[in-house]
Amino acid sequence: MTANTLFYIIIAIILINFLVDKILDALNAKHFNDALPSELQDVYDEAEYQKSQNYKATKYKFGILTSTFSVVLTLGFLFFDGFEFVDNLARNYSENPIIIALIFFGIIMIGSDILTTPFSYYSTFVIEEKFGFNKTTKKTFFLDKLKGWLMSTILGGGILALIIWFYQITGSYFWLYAWGLVTLFTVFMNMFYSKLIVPLFNKQTPLEAGELRDKISAYAKTVGFKLDKIFVIDGSKRSTKANAYFSGFGSEKRVTLYDTLINDLNDEEIVAVLAHEVGHYKKKHIIFNLVASVLLTGLTLFILSLFISNPVLSNALGVEKHSFHIGLIAFGMLYAPISEITGLIMNVFSRKFEYQADDYAKNTYKGEPLITSLKKLNKNSLSNLTPHPAYVFMHYSHPTLLQRIQNLRK
Ligand SMILES: [Zn+2]
Repeated sequence: MTANTLFYIIIAIILINFLVDKILDALNAKHFNDALPSELQDVYDEAEYQKSQNYKATKYKFGILTSTFSVVLTLGFLFFDGFEFVDNLARNYSENPIIIALIFFGIIMIGSDILTTPFSYYSTFVIEEKFGFNKTTKKTFFLDKLKGWLMSTILGGGILALIIWFYQITGSYFWLYAWGLVTLFTVFMNMFYSKLIVPLFNKQTPLEAGELRDKISAYAKTVGFKLDKIFVIDGSKRSTKANAYFSGFGSEKRVTLYDTLINDLNDEEIVAVLAHEVGHYKKKHIIFNLVASVLLTGLTLFILSLFISNPVLSNALGVEKHSFHIGLIAFGMLYAPISEITGLIMNVFSRKFEYQADDYAKNTYKGEPLITSLKKLNKNSLSNLTPHPAYVFMHYSHPTLLQRIQNLRK
């Protein structure tokens, strides 16, 4: 295959991906005003419903703007040999392939982050602000950016440097070593994310002794689940939106509740949400997701190893001198349809798991408080209650609120 053909395949992938996305968004938007099913009539009152309609429309329009900007930017970069320009820039500073790759990705990442910052700024301080969600200060917003950069420089840079080093030493077998490294990193992050990374951004405090904690402990006992690590995180530092999640396994397993969740829900509803999270653990969804992501990474790295030495990858992006990092960019663009498909499959599993976790909560605790909690959470995030089925199929990791309520009442 010639570099020119490959170039146009990449362009086609980007355009088709963009078009499919926009068609799905438009389909979804056409159903924003659908009549609410009877089960969902009591989620919003009239004023809140109107507000949620405005929120959806605003986000939809803003989404068209940002995704168009990013596609135009990517295409511009491809048509005007942007990758070659940045590659040459990086080569001015070093002859070492690892250093060149690090500088190259540093420029690309920070450059694209700076270009998209006005959009995320507008989204946070204009849109989210207008609808009453935003609690982020400008200081927090920019500190988050800096910390994010620092983290990707250290973690991302470290992993990239090691992978290129493996490639230099072992040639096409590098993927096995890279796979081992990424697997170690993934498992480590799964175990210690809450302990090491979250504190950089948020405060976590153990849930204080009292009625709620007692109720949670009493429930955990009935299902034989050791749940001594319950933390409250200051989600309210950034947004009024609420959440709860499970992380880690073995002795590191813990449940994290947003302070906003504790504010919005009553004790019974919080226990029901926790029962759902315990369900994910008991039904082995956490392990399944971890194993699946490790296997998918292995597959991706293996396929990468088949192509990475071919200079046509770099040439397709207009770069004469083939290198691992340019090959990686081209591969990433060509692989997008495959990762789109694996993402879809993971969503199918994820939605199935949500039903199982809901069933677990219903069978070991109660269904009704989970229903009322889901209604409150949907109301408080002004979420769309009438998504288009195709949109749900492609994008939703959870079943719709209606589907979950119907399942919980079965
Ligand atoms: Zn869940």
